[in-house]
Amino acid sequence: MSRISVDEARELWLHASDDELKRLAQIARTRFHEPKHATYMVMRIINYTNVCVAQCDYCAFYVLPNQEGGYVLSGDEVFAKIDDLLEVGGDLVAFNGGFNPKLPLEFYCDLFASVRERYGDRVEFYALTIAEFVYLADRAGLTHAEAAARLREAGVHWVTGGGSEILTEDFRKRHAKFKYTVRDYLEAQRAIVEAGLRTTATMVIGFDETLDERLEHLQRTRDLQDDLLRDGLDGLFSFLCWTYKPYGTAFGGREIPPQEYWRWIALSRIFLDNVKHIRTSVLTQNEDAFRALDYGADDFDLPLEDEVTQKAGATIELDLESLLAVPRKLGYTVEYRRAERPAALTA
Ligand code: SF4
Repeated sequence: MSRISVDEARELWLHASDDELKRLAQIARTRFHEPKHATYMVMRIINYTNVCVAQCDYCAFYVLPNQEGGYVLSGDEVFAKIDDLLEVGGDLVAFNGGFNPKLPLEFYCDLFASVRERYGDRVEFYALTIAEFVYLADRAGLTHAEAAARLREAGVHWVTGGGSEILTEDFRKRHAKFKYTVRDYLEAQRAIVEAGLRTTATMVIGFDETLDERLEHLQRTRDLQDDLLRDGLDGLFSFLCWTYKPYGTAFGGREIPPQEYWRWIALSRIFLDNVKHIRTSVLTQNEDAFRALDYGADDFDLPLEDEVTQKAGATIELDLESLLAVPRKLGYTVEYRRAERPAALTA
């Protein structure tokens, strides 16, 4: 199957049947993965602070500085959450919180260094999202390269592509005008990879974005990956798409149906011919997420906690075996995947 253009992707989205999209996505999937085989991780998102000045209108999680209900987790609270995760067999933590003006980059470096020192390689962690990284570098007066080097010194291996939502300048102006530009975001992502860390791509659908905006997001992701790979860098490990949860947000709106999500996963699998893993979101789609494996996804997380999406209406099933029974019933073998150490950091 050859690379498709944005125009061809638009045509497929508008006119291809579900079966046709599924068929093409499965062909694209077999370039990287065995059919009917999927991988997963058990993870916990640790929301270390809910104080945030970014004021995205689609967020139900944040409180402003000095508003009631703001918190910052202590080191002991973070460790207790990681211990719980280890107890149920998980080994991946994603740190994610608000743009808290009282917490400088050094606060995070100390936190990450203490987690690495205490757990070594028993736990892998996504230290920040790219969005938080851009904020912290800016506040510290550091270039993205300098800030990425600080994280690396603190024992960080991964920074996720979170906070991208829809990567168009217009979307950001409409919904997240204090969250930096798309250009900042992509430059930071490149600096992270150049520092020898790994990163991922993400996307959130179901706001008021247009089809063209969604396609622009995919195009920017594919272009970035082309550039990184051409320069001999590790590139984006995966692409994770999830759906907007509208409850309790200023923007409001409705959830998109699972069918639309599955179709978008299929189109992403077909379009992103240079990204190995397409991940489906159990956090926002629950059992419906597994149907996306038929539409080209190959990997998923089983999350124990994420206050950001839970505040906006996500529900989390903690019976992991009953969740894993769903892809098995669909005919998939599922295998636990440990987070890889970036090639630049392997001795
Ligand atoms: S989505 Fe993140 S950056 Fe935006 S308001 Fe919520 S916590 Fe802050």
